[in-house]
Order: sequence, then C-alpha cells, then structure tokens
Amino acid sequence: MSAELAAFLRDQGIRDERVLLAMAQLPRTAFVPEHLRDDADADRPLPIGHGQTISQPFVVAFMTERLRLAGGERVLEVGTGSGYQTAILALLAKEVFSIEVVPELSERARAVLLGRLGLGNVRLRIGDGTLGWPEEAPFDRIVVTAAAPEVPPALLDQLAAGGRMILPVGAAPDGQVLRLVDRGRDGATLQTDLLGVRFVPLTHG
Ligand code: SAH
Repeated sequence: MSAELAAFLRDQGIRDERVLLAMAQLPRTAFVPEHLRDDADADRPLPIGHGQTISQPFVVAFMTERLRLAGGERVLEVGTGSGYQTAILALLAKEVFSIEVVPELSERARAVLLGRLGLGNVRLRIGDGTLGWPEEAPFDRIVVTAAAPEVPPALLDQLAAGGRMILPVGAAPDGQVLRLVDRGRDGATLQTDLLGVRFVPLTHG
C-alpha cells in the first residue's frame, strides 16, 4: 500500500529517493485513528483528535525533501501531532527532538514512535514549541508543522550556521506559505517562499 503512496509522490514531483523510500516503508496506518485506517494512504490530512490533523503525505514529503537530510543531522520538530512526520525524520536524520503542546497527542505519539516502532533516536517533549528546545540547541534542521504569523524568533536563534528551517507562515487559515529559511556559514539568513499551504495554527502553551 505504501509503495503506491511512494509512486504517487514520485508522480507529484518528489525526487529524493531516501524520502520516497522512508515514506514507502512507514505505514501511515500506525498514526491514524482506528476508524480511519481505510483512508490512511489517501493524500489528504485526517483528523487525529483535539482539533488537530495528521498532515497530508505530499506536504510531509515536500517539507522533508526541502530539508535535504543526509543522515547526520539533529532535527527539531514543532508539532509532533500523530508522530508521522517525526518518524519519517527519524528514518532520515541522526536525532529528532519533537515538541507537542497537547499532552494526550504527545503521549499517543510516544507509544507509537518509541513503543511500537522502537525508534531510539526520537526525543519528545510536551510544551510550547515556539520557544524551541534551548538545552539541545543549536539544530541543523527545524521543521514546524503548524502555522505561525511570523517565523518564531526563538527558533531562528536555535538554527545552526549552515542549517535550514521549513515552516508555514501566515495568519489566515488559507493564506499561508511554506517558507524555507537558510542560514549561511556566516550566520546570515535567506528566506524563500515555496508554496501555498493550509496548516492548523500554532497555539501558545
Ligand atoms: N506533523 C503532524 C502535524 C500535526 S498538526 C502530523 O503529521 O501528525 C500540528 C500539531 O502542532 C498539532 O498536534 C498541534 O497540537 C501542535 N501545536 C500547535 N501549536 C503548538 C505549539 N505552540 N507547540 C507545539 N506544538 C503545537
């Protein structure tokens, strides 16, 4: 089933073979509520409770591809949600630190990621991700899976030199853009808007 999803993503323009392989390997069914299992491979967001959604596979693939993970990176994720994106990152990077503001979602994701899938390189925290994870900073990559009106300053501070961050930015529910922030070796940042998207808003814990 997930091989079909990978073929679909390839059709949609995803080219990074490591990303396609990770998405083919990882069953999205593990991350969706029982009654929605039949829809798990559909390319759309699905409700996971608490007013939140598991992201659309294309968006997960697109964001992950733009991070250009080679395998040695330490990654910060804001918005663990179901843990689906977290698991993809864990397969492609060295270590993933993921923050979720809704305790029940974080606990459910913990059971899947650390329990069922046994991913040893994932660390989860409950709290407000807009503040980042200062004790573990800086991060080579940062990915935010809920929309902020602007790039949160703490996250910008915690992005390593030579690092990249991808996040949806914008206030209106249907007026966000996916923004890529590249930090040069000299510390200067370059921001590029990539694609129109719809994410749930970041809330403040
Ligand atoms: N990548 C996740 C997407 C979940 S939706 C998935 O595919 O399942 C975005 C998530 O961000 C939600 O779980 C929401 O509770 C969480 N979130 C919202 N505001 C947050 C904040 N300030 N800090 C951490 N997580 C936050």
